[in-house]
Amino acid sequence: MNPGKLVVGNWKMTGDVARVQAFAAQACGELPALGGRCEVAVCVPHPLLMAAQAAWWCTPLRWGAQDCSAADDGRSTGDVSAAMVRATGARFVIVGHSERRHGRGETDADVSAKARRALDAGITPIVCIGETAEERDDHRAEEVLRRQLQRLVAALGASLGAVVLAYEPVWAIGSGRTASVGMIEDVHGFIEHVLRFHGQRDVREVRRLYGGSVDPRNARAIMACPGVDGVLVGGASQRAGDFLEICKAATGCAAGMTQGSEDG
Ligand code: PEP
Repeated sequence: MNPGKLVVGNWKMTGDVARVQAFAAQACGELPALGGRCEVAVCVPHPLLMAAQAAWWCTPLRWGAQDCSAADDGRSTGDVSAAMVRATGARFVIVGHSERRHGRGETDADVSAKARRALDAGITPIVCIGETAEERDDHRAEEVLRRQLQRLVAALGASLGAVVLAYEPVWAIGSGRTASVGMIEDVHGFIEHVLRFHGQRDVREVRRLYGGSVDPRNARAIMACPGVDGVLVGGASQRAGDFLEICKAATGCAAGMTQGSEDG
């Protein structure tokens, strides 16, 4: 098993070519020192994918998109297909972010279809799941997560091992309220349980991230949680200094894990 963590930034609807270039300069300066112990990607708005390709291809930074179309038929005016995203050299695409599920009415079926398109195009979908504050207060968080996962398992079957799952409680996104370490551990354990129940034999193959107000202060504790393979970072990923601090925290956790497995 690869102990390396995955740190993914989500610039949301922010950024420009100047920021892409500034990230290249900082990433070239600082990421090599991390010794490849963590994989780092930033998901940028579609118009910046080509700028990311130009500026980041020779750096350790990978890039991705924040959405792709569930269609692939040459119509769908205004949409961007997974194949088009892939053609920019992108490795990842976020699908099912809560700002699309709740802000744009995307259903579990839409999200699963997008994940399928991404896999078919050769990109890794980062599939976001998570409950709202109301659902958690009503003790329905597990029911919601189970439903989101079941739909994905049904659509992807054995390909599920190729996706990255991001647990992002909706109430923690952009709010400054991070889920507690205990809660993150519980939910990641629950995800594992659901995947196993649905016949996913190699559960550890499915990389699982946490997202929701991750910053340089809390990143290390979050990534030290069992079952957490990395983080999806919104606001803090828009500041190169903070984002690189989170990458350093990830590297520290990965080093700890390697040490642990060597000792054990
Ligand atoms: C996100 O947008 O996926 C996210 C986790 O945002 P933030 O880190 O700002 O909560």
